[in-house]
Amino acid sequence: MSTPTIGVLALQGDVREHVKALTDAGAQARPVRRPEELDQVEGLVIPGGESTTMSKLAVVFGMLEPLRAFVRAGNPVYGTCAGMIMVADKLLDAREDQETLGGIDMIVRRNAFGRQNESFEAAIDVAGIPGGPVEGVFIRAPWVESVGGAVEVLATYDGHTVAVRQGNVLATSFHPELTGDHRVHALFVDMVRGDRQGRA
Ligand code: GLN
Repeated sequence: MSTPTIGVLALQGDVREHVKALTDAGAQARPVRRPEELDQVEGLVIPGGESTTMSKLAVVFGMLEPLRAFVRAGNPVYGTCAGMIMVADKLLDAREDQETLGGIDMIVRRNAFGRQNESFEAAIDVAGIPGGPVEGVFIRAPWVESVGGAVEVLATYDGHTVAVRQGNVLATSFHPELTGDHRVHALFVDMVRGDRQGRA
């Protein structure tokens, strides 16, 4: 099987854990901070962290437009938690001026679970991932309030959508990179392999 090169957006957040999870899932993974580094990867993970800080740093580092262009070009992108917020077309409970990259036709509510329960773990069945539920680690996590017709809902928890995919963009409210179970990363690595074959 091919070894795709996948970047982890390294402006802020839990970059190292994603690099390890992607490596374990069969990719060559590297941090991405600059536009030139983005040009060298076939897919990108946007980690968890703090989406307000991440979007500000994206502006400061001159990465906002290159990242938007990367998504628009149809490259595979996977956002976890704050990363899910970054790939949402619209936000709730965010400041008016919080920038996102867009990519998934959905409305994401920031810190949605936070009001009920700051952080928790739950077994989550994810469509397309065989072998039983994955352990979902939720940390001041967002949920998906609503989706457009082109969006596939992959998982729900307690009646709320927590994993979605639209074309080449995947997003989860939870953090699979913290569990040692790399099946969600393996799904993303497969998406990148599939995209590479489709373009070849
Ligand atoms: N609440 C954070 C935000 O709005 C996300 C938390 C996380 O990524 N663990 O960015």
